[in-house]
Order: sequence, then structure tokens, then C-alpha cells
Amino acid sequence: MPDRDDADSADHIDDDEIERILAANRRPDRARVRDILVKARNLAGLDMSEAAALMPLSDPALLAELFAAANEVKNAIYGRRIVLFSPLYVSNLCANECLYCAFRVRNREVRRRVLSMEEIADETLALIEQGHKRVLLVAGEAYPAQEGFQYVLDAIRTIYSVKSGPGEIRRVNANIAPLTEDEFRRLKETGIGTFQLFQETFHRETYAKVHVAGRKTDYAWRVTAFDRAMRAGIDDCGIGVLFGLFNWHYEILAMLQQIRHLEKRFGVGPHTISVPRIEPAIGSDMARHPPAAVSDIDFRKIVAILRLTVPYTGIIMSTRETANLRQELFALGVSQISGGSRTNPGGYTEAGAQNDGEAQFSLGDQRTLGEVIRDVAKLGLVPSFCTGCYRLGRTGKDFMDLAKPGDIRRHCDPNAFSTFQEYLIDYASPETRTVGENLIRKELGNMEPPVRLRTEEMLSRVRSGKRDVFC
Ligand code: SAM
Ligand code: SF4
Repeated sequence: MPDRDDADSADHIDDDEIERILAANRRPDRARVRDILVKARNLAGLDMSEAAALMPLSDPALLAELFAAANEVKNAIYGRRIVLFSPLYVSNLCANECLYCAFRVRNREVRRRVLSMEEIADETLALIEQGHKRVLLVAGEAYPAQEGFQYVLDAIRTIYSVKSGPGEIRRVNANIAPLTEDEFRRLKETGIGTFQLFQETFHRETYAKVHVAGRKTDYAWRVTAFDRAMRAGIDDCGIGVLFGLFNWHYEILAMLQQIRHLEKRFGVGPHTISVPRIEPAIGSDMARHPPAAVSDIDFRKIVAILRLTVPYTGIIMSTRETANLRQELFALGVSQISGGSRTNPGGYTEAGAQNDGEAQFSLGDQRTLGEVIRDVAKLGLVPSFCTGCYRLGRTGKDFMDLAKPGDIRRHCDPNAFSTFQEYLIDYASPETRTVGENLIRKELGNMEPPVRLRTEEMLSRVRSGKRDVFC
């Protein structure tokens, strides 16, 4: 049976506090909004009340100031880097009934598929040959009867074992169901990067309405998953909610309560926040008509407010969003994106690629990784495949201690350039290579001399044939 620490509870999600703060910040005056934006520009982060005061903004001038502040903070902390990853769906078996998801157990419209280790190796090979270095393993909450949870561990080891020419996957993250503390320990032993889990909604009543069968009906088991992960030594955690289920003002404040709880209890908050929005999914009416759909303008506000509130936490956006909106959201604070994604098990190797009959949801962005990289580079942003921090043990609190004074950029910038250079040499089309080489040349000119020196030294090692150069 699940192990629970006596101190694990869902009490840190405090509805009364959220309602109080939202009520007190329904009509913030201009002066207060501007004071908050000044504080945010100093990279000091925002408290719950300050974040709440930015939520009702609708005045175009103030909105423009909000977006400009988010852009400034994004540039100050992340520079022009965008980290690239790819999801790898290994199985769409699931024992839960989440009404918004195509993998829900009672859905007869989706074909069930569990990849064998050979198929996982083939999928990995296809991703490596596109140029990927970071993979997010995704699975429904039911594992093949014979192997049970061991299936996931074997899948991760399989992904790490595949090599092709100069390529390999250097970091495997996982988005899988909540585990026991013992299972988290076994997961950590595989060399996992981030454990990612979305609460979907923190609002208890809504949570109960949309999760109607299976273990996922247990709100507290899910909301305390990171406590167990942290105790098991997994200190890189990725949180998120599924936007569209309940009021987003509430969800952001609840996420901030979760962050406050993790910081208080373990001394470190989440490494990343994901901002998925509900997308249409086969066999789900709810996915077609989300109960609290978030508009594009509100989605921009969500990303901007998160960027100002938790400036050092990565913000991840998936292929769920269209290419145009994704470009705008880079400017507002998104720091990681998926590229060339498929949400059906086997989608990278099989003809027809994205097969919606087996997929989790439809994709807003159907471009290949190569196209995404070219478009990102054309925007003047540097695609990064860096896995340096994780490989050097800079995770959890160690990462945040380096990130907060801004020291992390001394590592991130050179690592972004060296991994981008690898990509350009090993995988890029001639057009992308030209765009990329021009970008590298231009950006080197904008760097502080010591960082530039280090970057040039790393670039020349990559150009002379060395791979996996990081600092
Ligand atoms: N089964 C595990 C779980 O539920 O935590 C992990 C995998 S599940 C496929 C990953 C995430 O997909 C869920 O946490 C949910 O937020 C998201 N998701 C489900 N249905 C979706 C939809 N229709 N549109 C966008 N995201 C969806
Ligand atoms: Fe299963 Fe996860 Fe989909 Fe729910 S969201 S049905 S648990 S795969």
C-alpha cells in the first residue's frame, strides 16, 4: 500500500486563503500595479497577493507594461536561450477515468498500445537522429501485468542505452503517475532528471468531478507526490495544472501555495512549471468543451505572471500550442519547449506519424524538430539541448543557489551554444545551418568577454569533432 509520511497532507492547499487574496485584489489601482511591476523587474519575485493583483488587468496600456516587464525578466535570467525536448509516449494503457484524456480507461475509441523495449529503442533512435538530447517519458497509469512498475524503469534504462553515431539521449525526465517513496527511490536510481506531475486542478470539488474512477480520484495522494519524491532524493520536480478545468486565477495561487510548501519543507521549489491547456482528444467531450476554457489573451497573462512571480523557475510549453502563439510566449517567459512531438506510442517510427486513434490529444504545432529549430533561430533565439547542470549534479537547491544570483548564465549560455553547434553540424539542413551559424556569430558579439571566451573555446572543441562539451 502507498506509504504516507505523517506530515504529508493536502492542507497546504488552503481555499480560504486563496479566496481572501482574490477578493482583496479584484480592482487593484494603477499605482499598485506599477509598484508590483517595479518589484518584479528587480527579479525579486512576487507574493501571492501581488500575483493576484496582476490577474484582473484588462487595460491595454497596463497589459502592455505587464508583458514588457515579463520580457525584461525573461531576458535578464534566460537570455536568448530556449531549451528543446521531446516527449516519448511509451504506453497509453490507463486504469483511471480522467474525463478530459483520450487514454481514460472507459474510452473505447482509442487503440491501446504498450511499446516493447525494442520499440522504445527504435523510437529513441528516431529521436536521436532528429538531434534530440532530452526526452520526457510519458505513460498512462497502468503498466503491463507481468512487469508492473519495473516496465517504466526498464524503459528509462533502454532510452539511455541507445547510441547512434555522435548521438545519445543525455537526460530522461518522466511524466508518470504518483509513486510511493520506495518507487521514487527506484526511479532515482535509473538516473532520472525531472519528475514531472500535473495536479490538473487544485480545486477539490472540480478535481472530484473530472477524475471519476481509479487511483487518481485520491486528491491528497497526488498533491503530496512531490513530498515523497523529495524524500526519495528526487529534487528536480516539475509542477503544473491543466488549464481549462477551473478558474485560472485560483489555480495559479494554489500552485504558489504548493511552491511555498515545498520550499518550506525541503528548502527548494520546483525546477519547472508546465502550462498545458486542454486540447481536443478522441473520445472526450470535456476536452472539446473545457469547463473553464482559457483564452489566448489570458494564456499570455498566465505565462507573464508566472515569469514575474517565480523568475528562476523554468516554464515549459508543449506542442499543444500553435506555432504563432508559441513565438509570442517565448518573449513573455517560456524557457522550454517540445519540438516535433507525437503523442501516440510509436509515433516517431511509424508511417502516418501522429496517429490520433492512439494519441493522447491533437497537436497544435505539427512542425518537425528541424523546422522548429530553424524558426526559433530566425527569431534570434538560441535553441539549447544542454543537460550540463543535471550531469554535474547541479540540481534542486544547488541549482537554485546558483540561479538566484544570476550565476547560472555563466554556464547556460556557453552550454546552449555548444549544444546548438553540435546540432548544426550533426543534424541540421543546409538552410538551418546557415541561419544558426549567423546567429552564433551575432550573439557572440553581444556576450560579456569572460563568457564569450569560454563559449568560443567550447565551440572550437565542438567544431574540431569533440561532442558533449559542457561546463
Ligand atoms: N498518466 C499520468 C498522469 O495523469 O499524471 C501521466 C501521463 S498524462 C498522459 C500527462 C498529462 O497529460 C496529464 O497530467 C494531463 O495534464 C495531460 N492531458 C491529459 N489530457 C489532455 C488533453 N486533452 N489536452 C492536453 N493535455 C492533456
Ligand atoms: Fe490516464 Fe493520465 Fe490520461 Fe488520466 S491523464 S486518463 S491518468 S493517462
